[in-house]
Amino acid sequence: MEEKKYFSDLNREVIETGKCTLCGGCVATCKLLDVGYLSVSDERPVIEEGVRCPADCGYCYSQCPRVGKPTLMEGLEEIYEVVSKDDEILNACQDGGVVTSLLVYALSDAVAEGCITVVDKGDWRPEVQIAMDKSSVLKSAGSKYTPAATLTGVPDAIMNYGLWSSALVGTPCQMAGYEKMVAVGRGTHNAHNFASNVQLRLGLFCKGCYSYDKLMKEYLEGKKGINISEVTKLDIRDDVLHVYAGDKELLSAGTNEIEVYKRDGCGICEDFTGLFSDISVGNVGVPAGKSAVIIHTDFGKEVFEYALARGFIDAKPIDQSGADLIHKLQKEKKEAGIAEQNRREK
Ligand code: SF4
Ligand code: SF4
Ligand code: SF4
Repeated sequence: MEEKKYFSDLNREVIETGKCTLCGGCVATCKLLDVGYLSVSDERPVIEEGVRCPADCGYCYSQCPRVGKPTLMEGLEEIYEVVSKDDEILNACQDGGVVTSLLVYALSDAVAEGCITVVDKGDWRPEVQIAMDKSSVLKSAGSKYTPAATLTGVPDAIMNYGLWSSALVGTPCQMAGYEKMVAVGRGTHNAHNFASNVQLRLGLFCKGCYSYDKLMKEYLEGKKGINISEVTKLDIRDDVLHVYAGDKELLSAGTNEIEVYKRDGCGICEDFTGLFSDISVGNVGVPAGKSAVIIHTDFGKEVFEYALARGFIDAKPIDQSGADLIHKLQKEKKEAGIAEQNRREK
């Protein structure tokens, strides 16, 4: 019989060794099992002091995407250049406003009753929120580049908002964490039944995520003298970080300057485009003001086509050069992630 492992093992093997992505899957699973011993503190999952886990549990360990990679079930790949058709969304969003438009479509067509997204809770601190309407979805527009344990929104949507269908927006590691949560739970515990309430998974292309204290406090505030409360937009494009206050650009710096602030868990990451999502979106291989969109599943294709037919977005197949760039970046990230895994194992 396979040896059961618990949070202490997850802590020792994944969190202490700098492999944790902060997907939030372990915390979400513990809550969905109605135990709730786990929470997030200082950008890491922690267990309540002095508790004893049920002997037959251990699901936080087995569902972690860094303990065993999930299996890719579909492998569709259709790539488009896309832009929102909604001016309010375009004004509020980065790039083509596609994530926001797809969420607004999903709410309007009953694909999802609510959306699990990340908002700025002040001074660019990311916070997971459940958005139930267009104005709340708009608040989550724009990349934060610092981590939020997005999967903690899964139990939140069910337990605090009573939602039976939701859309989940997250980084590739969070999509993998969700896939693992559902796959591990299937047939073994109740968390699966609840977690499968997520109807639509929207992934965000990702080259890495930075520690909040290091990027925002140490670098932007400390080294660059930027008042974070004035910042209205952060944008990483073509390996350059741009920081804005309204129309004024406060900083433009190569991402090599901030590489040291990247979270440890990102160093071993292999997924750039969000292979475990239904649809993923990024700002690579397309002109400014547009988004690159990859459809990964049949369901994603259905949602995309309805959003297109109902006038939420405009799309055309991406140029070959754009698709080539996306494939190149995906290959480079996968190779770098595997090389770093091998280096750390030595
Ligand atoms: S109760 Fe289960 S899921 Fe929660 S921390 Fe303990 S072993 Fe992990
Ligand atoms: S990677 Fe996700 S599931 Fe694994 S320890 Fe970190 S937060 Fe928990
Ligand atoms: S680089 Fe990988 S581990 Fe880091 S936030 Fe992006 S998807 Fe997650």
